Amino acid sequence: MSEKFDVIVVGAGPAGTSCAFVCAKNGLNVLLIERGEYPGSKNVMGGVLYRKQMEELIPEFWKEAPLERPVIEQRFWMMDKESVVQFGYKGLEWGQEPYNNFTVLRAQFDQWFARKAVETGALLINETVVTECIVENGKVIGVRTDRPDGEVYADVVVLADGVNSLLGKQLGFHKEFRPDEVALTVMEVVNLPKEKINDRFNLEENQGCTVEIFGDSTKGNLGTAFLYTNKDSLNIGVGTTLSSMIKAKLKPYDLLDYLKTHPMVKPYLEGGESAEYLAHLIPEGGYRSVPKVAGNGVVVVGDAAQLVNAIHREGSNMAMSSGKMAAEAIIEAKKDDNYSEASLNRYKDALYGSFIMKDLEKYKDAAHIFEKHPQYLRDYVPMMNRAASKFFTVDGTSKREKQKEVLKSVTDERGTFKVLKDIYRAWKAVK
Ligand SMILES: Cc1cc2nc3c(=O)[nH]c(=O)nc-3n(C[C@H](O)[C@H](O)[C@H](O)COP(=O)(O)OP(=O)(O)OC[C@H]3O[C@@H](n4cnc5c(N)ncnc54)[C@H](O)[C@@H]3O)c2cc1C
Repeated sequence: MSEKFDVIVVGAGPAGTSCAFVCAKNGLNVLLIERGEYPGSKNVMGGVLYRKQMEELIPEFWKEAPLERPVIEQRFWMMDKESVVQFGYKGLEWGQEPYNNFTVLRAQFDQWFARKAVETGALLINETVVTECIVENGKVIGVRTDRPDGEVYADVVVLADGVNSLLGKQLGFHKEFRPDEVALTVMEVVNLPKEKINDRFNLEENQGCTVEIFGDSTKGNLGTAFLYTNKDSLNIGVGTTLSSMIKAKLKPYDLLDYLKTHPMVKPYLEGGESAEYLAHLIPEGGYRSVPKVAGNGVVVVGDAAQLVNAIHREGSNMAMSSGKMAAEAIIEAKKDDNYSEASLNRYKDALYGSFIMKDLEKYKDAAHIFEKHPQYLRDYVPMMNRAASKFFTVDGTSKREKQKEVLKSVTDERGTFKVLKDIYRAWKAVK
């Protein structure tokens, strides 16, 4: 296998496949290498796939892609031990073309997407691990794989090898991630007849719902849980930063069991059958953790470049966009026959000018602030629940009196000055 390609893409997740797809569509000779038995076989996602970035690659993909349900409702729960404060948005326009986003099962979706890249001209090799980049005179010129005679060469190697990116580490682009830069998430796929899903979530045929759950879902630790509807299954999962997990001595599967038996969640799962258990890391370091993304003969895309907006649970869309931007930079580099870092920095410039880095920059302090000040999920969520219970209980107290009581209960518990400081800090974190 000592052939030379224009481009070698390592990893057939959304980032790698997008890059391979665009390069192949533009006539480049592309090799896409995946360590799994097939693309998606090792991949984990809560399950929301965003329409916009996918549509830029394959217009009207929803007519043929293996999707679960178009999401028409997004709910947010601030959950305490026996109560929940809810808000969200439901819009029927999201259930019609061109849609907003969809739930997906990655094992099916990634396979289909990689097939599209192959139909466009990319060569896909499964069950092959790239063990290292081949570097000569400071330039990446190919990769070494675990196959016999497994060296392959290319003008550009694209690192789309996911959150751990051992290859990025080998090149010195990033160090070992700190425990506060990654979240460990566990999830389960629970089979349930579609009629039950529709009844429980108040949905009709081909309508989906997502629920993001904060507070007691992580026992007040920095993190979140989710409950998403597929056609005839639910995805339920929970994760916290590794540092929170270590500090609070949490065991991920215990946390998932706690969530599944929580009185606010359990009724949704009643009668369901566990079909699959999955665990994965999510890069959540944000703006400050993004490593070097272009070097001589190499670019880094998707999770390997830490491109995840944890506040808005966006990752797959950033993976796809970065893969596409990297491909466009490679196509330009090919025209000049120049694959130097300076030439491939076109990708870096595009990335930093895009919504990806703008959004990561906006929230650059959020994760660090919420990690350092755990009161937001630990104290305010229960306070919010107690306040709502008090406010909505009809007991002959006037509404003005109630308002005063609710405000007083919050300031009494934490102190007026601290509450004001917390509000200011939270506003600064997300402004
Ligand atoms: C539990 C969970 C829930 C999530 N929920 C959402 C969500 O709802 N919406 C959303 O948009 N994002 C979500 N994300 C984030 C999203 O899954 C990622 O951002 C996205 O998958 C990143 O794509 P990627 O292609 O960069 O990496 P991956 O999808 O991780 O793909 C990397 C690929 O590289 C392969 N690979 C790795 N190393 C090698 C090697 N050395 N040789 C060959 N192949 C290799 C892997 O097998 C894999 O196929 C979630 C993540 C998790 C863990």
